[in-house]
This record gives sequence, structure tokens and C-alpha cells, in this order.
Amino acid sequence: MFKTLLKVFFSLLILISCSNNSVNKVSMSDFGKAPNGEVVKKFKLTNSNGLSMEVINYGAIITNLNVPDSSGSLKDVVLGFNDFNNYYENNPYFGAIIGRYGNRISDGTFSLDEVEYNLELNNGPNSLHGGLVGFDKVFWKFIEEKSNNQSLYFEYFSKDMEEGFPGNLIVGVEYSLNDYNELKIKYTASTDKKTIINLTQHSYFNLSGESSGNVLDHILSIDATYYLPVNKNMIPYGPYEKVESTPFDFNNPKKIGSDIFVDDIQLKIGNGYDHCFVLNNHNGKLKKIGSVESPKTGIKMDIFTDQPGLQLYTGNFLDGSLESKDKKLYEKYSGFCLETQHFPNSPNQKEYPSVTLNKGEVYETETIYKFSF
Ligand code: BGC
Repeated sequence: MFKTLLKVFFSLLILISCSNNSVNKVSMSDFGKAPNGEVVKKFKLTNSNGLSMEVINYGAIITNLNVPDSSGSLKDVVLGFNDFNNYYENNPYFGAIIGRYGNRISDGTFSLDEVEYNLELNNGPNSLHGGLVGFDKVFWKFIEEKSNNQSLYFEYFSKDMEEGFPGNLIVGVEYSLNDYNELKIKYTASTDKKTIINLTQHSYFNLSGESSGNVLDHILSIDATYYLPVNKNMIPYGPYEKVESTPFDFNNPKKIGSDIFVDDIQLKIGNGYDHCFVLNNHNGKLKKIGSVESPKTGIKMDIFTDQPGLQLYTGNFLDGSLESKDKKLYEKYSGFCLETQHFPNSPNQKEYPSVTLNKGEVYETETIYKFSF
């Protein structure tokens, strides 16, 4: 009797694991060719609830993220292109991993141990998102041994003085998609010489669907009492400022568009929201720091991170010149980015949390975008 029960138990176990394997899948295909002849590979993960995510080995770009809406039909909730050439030539960082330093460094300069470093300038007087050729514009190595049917692992080797940053840096990014509908991004890095680092993910989300128009009706909340107002060059001028009684107060959920057209100097400088929020009670541990919901589809995204800051960027520079995956045009505010990160210009603001990575240390951080519908 006991033996029979044991047999039934094991058969059930095998059945469950087989059915899981047949549902959680990874597949690979070609997605164009770079001018140097390098073939771009696209990887697709699908979870058991039908969510799927596609990533290419160029920029470790998330090209597609299909999420079921409240009626069960799939919506692609990230902006992007059908064609690799657009990612190569015209990409305003859609879906990409950003590094070595996400966000701006004033005058592209900073010092470590009294040595001054000068970065490539690509944004007026600033270095933005890693410079001229950031981590969004390079090929990443897909590491099969570190990937499985729920996760994709990419690695990039950034040479000493690449774009002006000191230290040979090995960077790893693991994307996983689990059955709790969590898209998890784990970053790791190590260097052979003191450097600075601030990695983030630059997906532009539209929870009503990537070609559905603007995101001003999305309901957003951010757990932040303070934010970082910026000068005319988009560099935080220093102290944290209270969001209370400003358009930057998202402590109680409100529409992204509620206050976006209010007469406010910061919204004018940013051409919309393009600011870093100081997340409350940061202690380096993963915690929920905000959420967004589309009233049209009922798709909701909760954000968890261990990072101190969150850049809200409302696609202010999209101007209708880029064609969407569904052959529409990406107009201003067609998507929003919620980039978990350290504060802009941290290397030059000693009072901000440190972004220095020493030889022998391991940089490790995690962000989760969790979907419900
Ligand atoms: C920055 C914006 C910039 C955009 C480019 C955002 O992370 O905050 O200022 O224009 O990236 O896509």
C-alpha cells in the first residue's frame, strides 16, 4: 500500500515538473545584423500564465513584453521597434540596459582619489547614460550555462577607460520571468580598479499597449517624500526638496497627467517629468517603492528595488518621428520610464549615496517589475 502511494506520489511529481517545463519556455531566433556583420539574437521567455518577454543581445534590450489584460488578451507593454536597424540607429534607449553610469554627470567630469576623469559628452555639457557608446549600444554575451527556462543571463566586458571610465569592468545582467509574473533584473559587476557605476533599465512602458497613445491617464504612486530639482542643464542642484504641494507628489496615487501641465519651473525645465525621486526609508534592501496602473486595460505594475532613487521620465522627447511596432507614431508621452538607480551626478555630490566600486568589491542590485491584471 505504502509502495503504491509512493509510486503515485512520484508519478505526480514527474507530471508536474514536465508540465512546468512545457509551459515555461525559452526560445531563440535571429533579429537582423549589425553593420559589422554580427548577427543579433533574440531570446524569448514565456511563463505559465502566458506572459512573455523578448530580449536581444544588443544593449540587452527588452524588445517586447506581452502581458494579458483584464479580459485575457495580450498587450505588448513596452515601446520598441520591429526592425533592428531602428535600435541601431535611432533608439532613444528603448528597453536598454544603461551603463556604466545611468543618468547625467555634470560636465562629464569627476574625481577618484584626486585623479580627474573626463567622460565623453553626449548631452550638452553632460555625459548621459554612459556617454557616446554606452552599454545600450554594445553587444552582450549570452551565457547559456547561467540561463534557463526562466532566466536569461548576459555579460559585458567594459575596458579600462572605455568612454573615459577607469577600470576593467565585468558586468552581468540576469533577466528572469517567474510564475508570479515578476520580471526580475539582477545586476552584478566587479572591477580591477576603483571606478563608478550606476546601472539601470530603460524600458518605456505603456500599460495600455505600446501603440495606444499617451500614458497621461495611468495612475502612478511613488513612495518618496523628496525629489531632486534640477538646474537648466538637468543636473540636480543639490539638496532634496519636499514633493508636498508640488506636481511631484505621487504619495497618493494620481494620474501621470494630473499636474503635468501645471505652471511649474521644474516641469518646464524637464519638458515634463524627468526627475529623480529620493525613495523613502532606503536601506539597501529590496522593497516596494511604487506602482502604476492603466485604467484602460487594468494592467498594473508594482516596482520593487534596493536602489535609493527612481527617475520618472515621461517620454518628453518623443516627437512623433519614430514608428511604433504597430505602425503608429510614438508621440510625446507615449511611454513612461521608471528607472531605479542612484542619483544623477552622484560622483560630484558627496552628500548623495556613494556610487564608487572598489577593486575586490561586488556590485549587486535588483529590481522587480511585477504585473497583475
Ligand atoms: C533621461 C532623459 C533622457 C532620456 C533619453 C532619461 O533617462 O532622464 O533626460 O532624455 O533618458 O531617453
